Amino acid sequence: MRIDVVSIFPEYLAPLELSLIGKARQDGLLDLAVHDLRGFTSDRHRTVDDTPYGGGAGMVMKAEPWALALESIAGEGTAAKPVLIVPSPAGERFTQAIAHQLAEEEQLVFACGRYEGIDERVIDWAREHFRVRPMSLGDYVLNGGEVAVLAMVEAVGRLLPGVVGNPESLVEESHSDGLLEYPVYTKPSEWRGREVPPVLLSGNHGKIAQWRRHEQFRRTADRRPDLLSDFDASNLPRADREVFAELGYDVVDGRLMRREGGT
Ligand code: SAM
Repeated sequence: MRIDVVSIFPEYLAPLELSLIGKARQDGLLDLAVHDLRGFTSDRHRTVDDTPYGGGAGMVMKAEPWALALESIAGEGTAAKPVLIVPSPAGERFTQAIAHQLAEEEQLVFACGRYEGIDERVIDWAREHFRVRPMSLGDYVLNGGEVAVLAMVEAVGRLLPGVVGNPESLVEESHSDGLLEYPVYTKPSEWRGREVPPVLLSGNHGKIAQWRRHEQFRRTADRRPDLLSDFDASNLPRADREVFAELGYDVVDGRLMRREGGT
């Protein structure tokens, strides 16, 4: 996969040289380039922002440097119409499902906004060259798109074949099946008066798998009950339904319904 990131703070993306993503780059699994937006300005001060039309606080990123930067990337790439991800708190929420979609792409381009964001006409114009996706990391406001890009590149990059040593570890993770992951433990089996759940020491793989699945249900119901409304409960074995019943959920038409007054 080819990834291009445009930013006025290229140094901010230095962590992408480290750890698994850095190694994937060294191993040739990921070709990643960071471009300085100021390199596409033409004035002495390398200006990338100006005051907003209509007034108000803050500055807005000027359209032309963005168009020049994105044109040069579109011209270099091999993908017919690469995906352009524009980080924005006003974008679609980035999810694990989207990370999987993006991991299938040949080329991704990320446009890191700063200040009050990028002149909206760039987003419109860019649709001629890119499949544009404004994307939010979550419902909060960051100072710039770089932190969001670090997160998205890591989430996508680790799904590329060969990046994570044991691909099995991608299968059972939080959000891979619409649930949060079960709790994990390592040695020693007793630590500061706290014991590892005995089933994990039993060697009974069937029981361990069932315990883990039920812990996923409990943790998701506790921390992210919103995820359960999309959970397919149509073919749940009785033991699973019993756990959901304990948690205050009934299965109705293949969906989990929270019982009135359920805890
Ligand atoms: N005025 C913008 C708004 O309210 O929608 C916020 C601009 S923010 C200060 C500057 C830049 O940070 C944005 O252009 C975007 O690149 C990035 N950013 C801020 N919050 C983000 C989030 N939740 N997800 C992704 N990017 C974000």
